[in-house]
Amino acid sequence: MTSEADALAAVLAKVTALPSVKAALADSLGRFAAQDGFALRPLPAFDNSAMDGYALQAGSCRAGMKLRVVGEQPAGADRGLAVGAGEAIRIFTGAPLPVGANAVIMQEDVTREGETIVVHGNAEPGEFIRRQGSDLAAGQKILSRGERVAAQTMALLASQGIAEFEVGGAPRIAIVSTGDELAQLGETPQPGQIFESNSIMLRALALAAGGEVTRVEHCADHLETMTEVFRHGLQGDAFIISGGVSVGDHDFVKPALRALGAEIDLWRVALKPGKPFLFGRAGRCCVFGLPGNPVSAFVTFLKFVRPALLKMEGAAEEFLGLRKVTARLASEVTNSGDRPHYLRGRLHEGVFVLSGRQESHALFGLSRANALLRVAAGGKFTAGQSVTVELWD
Ligand code: AMP
Ligand code: MG
Repeated sequence: MTSEADALAAVLAKVTALPSVKAALADSLGRFAAQDGFALRPLPAFDNSAMDGYALQAGSCRAGMKLRVVGEQPAGADRGLAVGAGEAIRIFTGAPLPVGANAVIMQEDVTREGETIVVHGNAEPGEFIRRQGSDLAAGQKILSRGERVAAQTMALLASQGIAEFEVGGAPRIAIVSTGDELAQLGETPQPGQIFESNSIMLRALALAAGGEVTRVEHCADHLETMTEVFRHGLQGDAFIISGGVSVGDHDFVKPALRALGAEIDLWRVALKPGKPFLFGRAGRCCVFGLPGNPVSAFVTFLKFVRPALLKMEGAAEEFLGLRKVTARLASEVTNSGDRPHYLRGRLHEGVFVLSGRQESHALFGLSRANALLRVAAGGKFTAGQSVTVELWD
C-alpha cells in the first residue's frame, strides 16, 4: 500500500498543465493566470481628490480664512482649472486636481457663502489628495503565473484596461458511476437497491475545481459493458470512476481499464477513508478510480483528484492543497488504526466539532461538515487542543 504523500506525489508527477487559453476577464474567476502580469498604468491614474470639498493651496487654508470659489471640477473630464492663493475650486471625489492645488478641504469643514467659503480648520499639504502612482506604479508586477484569479484580481485587471488575458485551460472530465445496486434519480429503487449519489457529488466537486464536465454516466458491474463505457470516458483530460475498484468479485474497474490498455500507476493508499483509490493513465487522459462509499469518494477527490485538476489548470503548487486553518478541537479523538484517518467535522468560530458518524458510508455527517481533520495512525488529540483542519469551501 502506498503512503498518502507518495500517492499524491505519484499523481502529480504524471499530471501536466494544459495549454493556456485566452479568457474574457469576466469569465476568469477561479482560473489560474498562465503568465505574470504587469501594470500598464499607475494607480491612481492621476492626482485626484479623495473627498467632496474644495481644492486649494494649503497655505491659504487657515481656520477663519475666507476664500473665493473660482471654478468647479467634477469627476470626469479634466477642465484644466488652476487655483491660486486665496482661491478655492469646488471639487468632488475622484476629480482631477486643479493646477496649483496641494490640498483638499472637506465640504463639512467649510461654510459656503455665495462665491466664497469660510474655512473652519487648517489644511496640511497633501491632505485628501490621492497621488498618481501611490497605490501602484506602471510596470509593477500585479499577477503571478499560477495565481488564482479572485474577484479583486479581476477588478485590478479591469483598472488596467485589460479585457482578456491568458489563463490555464479547463480539463474536460468524464464521470462514471458503477454498481448494480444503484438506481438513478427518477427511478424506483428495487429491493436491495439504493439511489446513486456519487456522480452528482463528483460532478459538483469537479465543477467547483474548475473542470468542464463533458459526460456523466452510470454503468453496471459487467466487464464488457464497463469496457465500452470507459472507452468513451477516456477521451478527455480526466476520467473519474466511482466504485468497483475494491477487491470484490464484482469490481471490474481494473480489468476494464487494462482491457483498454490503460496504465495503472497506483492502487490502494494508506488512507481512511479511501484505501482502494486508483490512479492510472490512458494516453493523455488521467484516470481516477474512487471507492464507491460516498465519504471515501469525497475525501479521495479532495486529496488526489482536486490537486491534479488544479495542476492541469496551471495552478501554482501553493494552491493545490486545501486551505489549512488552526482550530480548537471540541472533543478528544483517537486513531487506533494503522492508516491516517480523515475525520469530518464542522469548523465554526474557531472550534472544530466532529459531525455525525465517521464511517465511510455516513453521508449525513459529511453533509453537515465543512472541514477535515487528519489524525495520524496511532495518533490522538485531546479536547481543547489546537489542531490544523482543512477547509473545502
Ligand atoms: P464499491 O466501491 O463499488 O465496492 O462500493 C462500496 C459501497 O459504496 C457500497 O455500499 C455501494 O453500494 C456504495 N456505492 C457505490 N457507488 C455508489 C454511488 N455511486 N452512490 C452511492 N453509493 C455508492
Ligand atoms: Mg460496486
